[in-house]
Amino acid sequence: MLPYGRQSIGDEEIEAVAAVLRGDWLTTGPAVRAFEAELSTVAGGAHAVSVTSGTAALHTAYAAAGIGPGDEVVTSPMTFVATASTAALLGATVVFADVEPDTALLDPAAAKAALTDRTRVVAAVDYAGHPADYDALRSVADSAGALLLDDAAHSIGASYRGAPVGSIADLTTFSFFPTKNLTTAEGGAVVTGDAELARRAARFRNIGLVREADEFRITDQGGWHQEVHEFGLNYRLPDVLCAIGSVQLRRLSAFLSRRAELADRYRRLLSDVDGLALPAQRADVTPAWHLFPVRVLGGRRREIYDGMRAGGIGVQVNYVPVYWHPVFADAGYRRGLCPNAEAYYAEQLSLPMYPGLTDTDQDRVVERLRALLT
Ligand SMILES: *Cc1c(COP(=O)(O)O)cnc(C)c1O
Repeated sequence: MLPYGRQSIGDEEIEAVAAVLRGDWLTTGPAVRAFEAELSTVAGGAHAVSVTSGTAALHTAYAAAGIGPGDEVVTSPMTFVATASTAALLGATVVFADVEPDTALLDPAAAKAALTDRTRVVAAVDYAGHPADYDALRSVADSAGALLLDDAAHSIGASYRGAPVGSIADLTTFSFFPTKNLTTAEGGAVVTGDAELARRAARFRNIGLVREADEFRITDQGGWHQEVHEFGLNYRLPDVLCAIGSVQLRRLSAFLSRRAELADRYRRLLSDVDGLALPAQRADVTPAWHLFPVRVLGGRRREIYDGMRAGGIGVQVNYVPVYWHPVFADAGYRRGLCPNAEAYYAEQLSLPMYPGLTDTDQDRVVERLRALLT
């Protein structure tokens, strides 16, 4: 089966892991600090805090923002469940705002309408690798005194009006799962331009341990002492995995060029196919096509999904609207809440997209899709 996404790992990553395994630090060592410094450069100079997954990154970012019971997080339903579930785990209420019908990105007008005096975070998602409308979303968040979060699990390396993803929102989260634009096997990061948010994120990912003597509230102990002021978790990404990340960061621009080439090629090869809508792209962004999300018109999405899979082509559907998950339905969220997201979901199909996809593989995808649709 041709997958819809997969990692690209070479000898350099293998060597980097072996070097860490031969050294002194398997975790909390120099490869972590090196990876975070390199990541900060890619993310426009923001502080970078590596964690064990994109889900952990979202949990850490919301914890750094200090959200809890009584607070509201406004977000898009067209995302992986973790964007919302990690806020819910902290006791916050998730408020879903609808997406733009063509890009499936959080609609600033819908986000604005969802604000209340309890809104603490507006969390956008750069669906498919296309940055959301951050100038408009910034005004929305500011008008509520809320923080702006960018779930950039799809969009590392993308830019919005010339600004790299990571430098736009107050908090940006990345995922380094194998299908994403770069990988550490499992991994993620929180990046922020705000030193205090970065400090809180770093503390949360390290069990909440305070090691700075000038902050101690217990002051009569010896040099061994460390203490906890707020609960945290162990979300530390080990040196073994950070070493993979450093190599992958050096390859990121090559990965993204190949993704862009494949996106252009899909557009060229599929432009004349009836019954198919290709992804919209705004003029003021450089996307990082993590997914290539087409829409299958005429109520045929399930049939085409099954037909592609039967032909050995691992298409995927991203995503079921988050509030359809029974855990949200049980809490009273109802279908029909975000009609644009639901209409998008009904037609959405992700075609194979990853740097190692060859032109020949892609031709096979296109041929099969064409044959099924005509
Ligand atoms: C993958 C993904 C996540 C979660 O990342 P993991 O590393 O799999 O935990 C969160 N949000 C979005 C939009 C994602 O695609």
